[in-house]
Amino acid sequence: MPTYVYKCEECNYHFEQLQKFSDKPLKSCPRCKGKVKRVIHPTGIVFKGSGWYINDSRSGGSSSSESKSSDTKSSSSSD
Ligand SMILES: [Zn+2]
Repeated sequence: MPTYVYKCEECNYHFEQLQKFSDKPLKSCPRCKGKVKRVIHPTGIVFKGSGWYINDSRSGGSSSSESKSSDTKSSSSSD
């Protein structure tokens, strides 16, 4: 049995309703008896509009101080 999501147009109440396929969609809000609409789940999330971007290559302020690995290769060529 699928779960349908409804949204009330009056009070914006979201609720889920377990229904059979043969069941008729709900019409009234259990809260305020207002008009409800069945919400269809989008198959993919679409980010509409501008203003959203990925800032991944932004080095933050907290620069991890790398501990200098003193690789002092004693290349003391004693001649
Ligand atoms: Zn309502």
